[in-house]
Amino acid sequence: MTSFEIHTLDLRFQDSPEAIAAFLVVGPGGPVLVETGPGSTLPTLERELARFGFTPADIQHVLVTHIHLDHAGASGWWAQHGAQVYVHQVGAPHLVDPSKLLASAQRIYGDLMQPLWGEFLAAPPDHIHALHDGDVVEAAGLKFTALDTPGHARHHMVYRLDDIAFTGDLAGIRLGGRPHLRLPTPPPEFDVEEWRVSLKRVRAEKFARLYLTHFGPVDDVEAHWQSVESLVGEYANFVRQELERGAGRDEIVARFSEREERRLDADGLDAEARARYASVGPYGMAVDGLIRYWKKTSPPSPAWRPPLPPLPLGEGGGAGSEG
Ligand SMILES: [Zn+2]
Repeated sequence: MTSFEIHTLDLRFQDSPEAIAAFLVVGPGGPVLVETGPGSTLPTLERELARFGFTPADIQHVLVTHIHLDHAGASGWWAQHGAQVYVHQVGAPHLVDPSKLLASAQRIYGDLMQPLWGEFLAAPPDHIHALHDGDVVEAAGLKFTALDTPGHARHHMVYRLDDIAFTGDLAGIRLGGRPHLRLPTPPPEFDVEEWRVSLKRVRAEKFARLYLTHFGPVDDVEAHWQSVESLVGEYANFVRQELERGAGRDEIVARFSEREERRLDADGLDAEARARYASVGPYGMAVDGLIRYWKKTSPPSPAWRPPLPPLPLGEGGGAGSEG
């Protein structure tokens, strides 16, 4: 095992602690950055790097788990400043030409686009490295292995470094070691079956510790994976049943929110923690992704049953937060 240190950098997204992280990995050959956060948090990221004695010029290697704005929004900035950026091959073209990515984000966020996410700069193509499953990134004397892990998005990688993993959004949202788990299931690529296949894959790795972008290290690894697995099934079944009984989108969002609020109650979260979960995992977006998944998988109808085992929906605190 090569020696390295990992520092969780708090990007203080929307002035909120423990919402979005980047990770500074210091190996024998220097620093590596895992996740860039959005453009809007670059000043915070620079301050965080300075705490450990680094300037942006010291960062020559940047790995992003996927290309969503909260994970890779500043990757173009890093590439323009000379860093080599490593990304899933499906996502790579969108870092070089972010116009499509930005157009779809603009439709979702409207006027909030700039204040929330800041600038998303185009990366020079010779600084973008497209990764396939199993590719090894050698940086700073360390070896990061890219694990193709779709489910949250098709362009999602988990990175293995020795016996730990940077899990992006595959491991969900679990802020600052709290018991409460939420899953980001956004449109257009959220896919239950792909997420499950990816979970099976990462569980086989028997990681000793996970680093969640939202937010920080998780040490009860197997229990955490079990929670993710049951919650993804619960979310999917809940929305499937709502669709089957003919509920409209807004009604589903309202009922999904009630259900999630009951889980937050059961886990004893205060208002401040709830706001933090909301800022990185809004209900409307989760429901939109779940609806889209079912509509593209098969049109729900009373006669139709999906290839999912029935899972208990649970009243009050659901599984997924109790593992
Ligand atoms: Zn995210």
